[in-house]
Amino acid sequence: MPELPEVETVRRELEPWLTGRTIRIARRVEAPPGPKYRDLERAAGQRILGVARRGKFLLVPLSGGDELVLHLGMTGILSPDPPTQHLRVELALSGPAPDRLYFRDARRFGRCLVVRAGRYAALPTLAALGPEPFDPAFTDEVFAASLARSRGPIKPLLLSQRVVAGLGNIYVDEALFEVGVHPLRPANRVTPSEAGRLRRASIAILERAIAHRGTTFSDYRTVNGEVGAYAARLSVYAHEGEPCPRCGTPIEKLVVGQRGTHVCPRCQPKPRTRRARK
Ligand SMILES: [Zn+2]
Repeated sequence: MPELPEVETVRRELEPWLTGRTIRIARRVEAPPGPKYRDLERAAGQRILGVARRGKFLLVPLSGGDELVLHLGMTGILSPDPPTQHLRVELALSGPAPDRLYFRDARRFGRCLVVRAGRYAALPTLAALGPEPFDPAFTDEVFAASLARSRGPIKPLLLSQRVVAGLGNIYVDEALFEVGVHPLRPANRVTPSEAGRLRRASIAILERAIAHRGTTFSDYRTVNGEVGAYAARLSVYAHEGEPCPRCGTPIEKLVVGQRGTHVCPRCQPKPRTRRARK
């Protein structure tokens, strides 16, 4: 599933291509009915002012005061080449070729809709999004304070997007391994010093992944049709049974909050339960 590095890669490729062009036609094709694909036709006639990103959302501000909001979901791909199947949205653009943008999504978790700029009532995840990892306001102290407020396990909290935006299953596993914190550790039992290291490790991993255009396991492609090269750099994610790069212990796979989760049982000790502490 595309996470921050993949969406940022797509954003960087879209921005120089789309900015300044006018959307001539915005058409939903085979899109599931309902709120995931709403008011697209309103984009027609508006000029694209830029391409921004918030968490895993792409935000395209338009000259008429609207905003095109796009989420790639699990399998979404944006491309100037028409797909043979699973086409959800087609935009026809002013200017020289390539002048079509196609949104393809096999598994239908993606979305593409037009809202008034900044009005995210129809998009609760976007409305409640925590700080961007690269925002200078997202400090060690802010992150530690957010973790201290939650007794739930750290991994689902990070996946919720509420304490920091953009991390998903792959990069959360990588960041927790990097700092030796087990994904089931209650967030309020992550020390301030660990929280600081986790924040800095997350940022470093995201930056490296962006430099490699993200991680491709199956569907994700950049706008130029390339695969992300970061899969080869992962330490634990998808490395079940292989030796930990730090201590050699076989990496284990478990399920945390219904998500496949990868840990080194030695580098990331399991949190002790109350009973075990007696
Ligand atoms: Zn290890």
